[in-house]
Amino acid sequence: MKIVRTVCAHDCPDMCSLLAHVENGRVVKIEGDPDQPLTAGFACGKVNRDVDLVHSPERLTTPLRRVGKKGEGKFAPIGWDEALDEIASRFKAIIAKSGPLALLGYAYSAHQGLTNRGLPGGMFHALGASRLIAGTVCDSCCETAWEMTAGGVGGADPEAVVDSELVIAWGADLMAVNVHYWALVEAQRKRGLKVVVIDPRRSRTAQKADWHIPIRIGTDAALALGMMHILVRDKKVDRDYIARHTLGFDKVEAEVLPRFTPARTAEITGLSVADVERLAAMYGATKRVMIRVGEGMTRLAQGGQAGRAVCLLPGVTGSYGVRGGGALLLTAASCDLNYNAIRKPSGPTNTRTVNHLRLGEALLDMKAPRIEGLFIAANNPAVTNPEVHKTRQGLAREDLFTVVHDPFMTMTARYADIVLPATTYLETDDMFRAYGAYWMQYGPRAVDPQGQARSNVQVAQALAQRMGLADPVFRMTPSELLTELFKGATGKPGTVDTRTLPSAGPINIAPTTEGQIFKTPSGRLEFYSEQLAKQGGPPMPDWTPDPEEVRDAERWPLRLLTAPGYFQAHTAFSGVAFLRKREGEPICVLHPEDATRRGLKHGDKVKLFNQRGTVGLVLKVSDEVRPGVVLVPGQRPDAEAVSGTVNMLCSDRYTDMGEGATYQSTFLDVAAWS
Ligand code: SF4
Repeated sequence: MKIVRTVCAHDCPDMCSLLAHVENGRVVKIEGDPDQPLTAGFACGKVNRDVDLVHSPERLTTPLRRVGKKGEGKFAPIGWDEALDEIASRFKAIIAKSGPLALLGYAYSAHQGLTNRGLPGGMFHALGASRLIAGTVCDSCCETAWEMTAGGVGGADPEAVVDSELVIAWGADLMAVNVHYWALVEAQRKRGLKVVVIDPRRSRTAQKADWHIPIRIGTDAALALGMMHILVRDKKVDRDYIARHTLGFDKVEAEVLPRFTPARTAEITGLSVADVERLAAMYGATKRVMIRVGEGMTRLAQGGQAGRAVCLLPGVTGSYGVRGGGALLLTAASCDLNYNAIRKPSGPTNTRTVNHLRLGEALLDMKAPRIEGLFIAANNPAVTNPEVHKTRQGLAREDLFTVVHDPFMTMTARYADIVLPATTYLETDDMFRAYGAYWMQYGPRAVDPQGQARSNVQVAQALAQRMGLADPVFRMTPSELLTELFKGATGKPGTVDTRTLPSAGPINIAPTTEGQIFKTPSGRLEFYSEQLAKQGGPPMPDWTPDPEEVRDAERWPLRLLTAPGYFQAHTAFSGVAFLRKREGEPICVLHPEDATRRGLKHGDKVKLFNQRGTVGLVLKVSDEVRPGVVLVPGQRPDAEAVSGTVNMLCSDRYTDMGEGATYQSTFLDVAAWS
């Protein structure tokens, strides 16, 4: 038995340090590394089962060529050389006929480290292909909102919660998506730390909190502005901090805050005036309040405004200057590595772009040239994209040559012409940096690739060489890629000797400076954003009813709330039978009043429907959601549901900032399945 000290690559803010127990070439046990303070010796309930992920009987073991219709899932095994030669020759033929813009590399992040995540995109960048604006299904809206507010810096250090007096989990179900931060928070409650959860749903975290505030979906900006109104009224504002570290508060105070009286805030948010007052009083009573900002509140039409308003709150009280205070959305921006060496080794400065969430539109409507060749890696857009029917319609095009590289036969892979078996993170060497904590770590492979699986780096390099690309990164060893990644790094990562990385274990990269640094154009926290004004966006935080949402709400009586499943946080976990079972069958949750009104009862098969489509799920009746809300946890593939997948109901409209997805701006109805 050997124990390999590695890193959890699942798309999760904690980035745990793991110990993989290996016997006879098989992972037999995974546990959290006790020597990494945040991991603190435990892995979550999903990753405890990663033995089943690596050795799942559902893993793809060989390259496959399609022999049935697109989407049908009929394939025959082929060899790697045959597959790679065919892909390269098809891509070359497409470039010769229509130019490189007819190719699209659609590689994303799922569940792997920095070089495996970056190099497939780097190959398409070097080819001058149509360029993916990645991450818009996920965090582009909240990232942009933060960037426009605080600049390219990380948020509060989660481990500083030992100095907090209050934690506000704002739209963040910590027990589902940030379990190690939650464990730290729980430990601090013994010394009196209070926990408030602001969430439309009474999540498990909300059930354990000191106070759950069941806010109406899409009104977070109004609540934050209402709190600011009260803080100003009650003279809980740190004028000295505002003068030294912020920009434009005077304009917000004069032009925006007067409209957010407690009464109006209560009316918008669906809360009582007393609760709005109480929350503002709690917030104003100490600077040591850490707001853990969830991303879900930004996945709707005015998500950027929500993210900005919430992240500006600590600027009103001067909480950003204090350890244990501030706001934590992401930490990744603080880790300044040479990502471009991997992601953009060469290629034209500008090409045509394709937004991640609008793959369907790109495949169906883009012309001069049409997309004729598509390479999808670490991504399952046939389930995770909004307007998923459009995505599938595009993938079904007979004149589209599609390659999918994935460990499992996903819904997307079923549409491929060639499917390539991918390694999981426990079969690759790579570098990892957390995006919700201040840690980085090298993660060596625990076992050899299963079957004939190959990593993204291997596939990108093999294809790049066949495509005639001469950039050195396509010939580098993993350790040379690592050296490249750290060239010119600043801050603590800049002090790292890459030769020692494989044995260095977890490296803490928390900034050592006192207080929060802002990297906006003004160097201050920007209540007023000139950048947003120049882009034609709203320069100041505000809340106004969104006209499309108002129109849809008049047509449909219910609003969709999506949230990560506890055991199916991503579709990548759907390859693990045990976790599928733990999560249970795909459900939707309705308040008892809404269920009764429709003559529905717990356990019924129901259809969720709107102008975009119909999805079949099993009904759970519970008051964990308010009347008027339908909660759907997880993005479960069709095969597990009664019918379809939830994103069939969601529009591919953009958010107000960052061109992100607006899943939570979906309105619908529910009826008995027929
Ligand atoms: S909590 Fe997150 S980082 Fe830790 S083991 Fe689970 S998925 Fe991985």
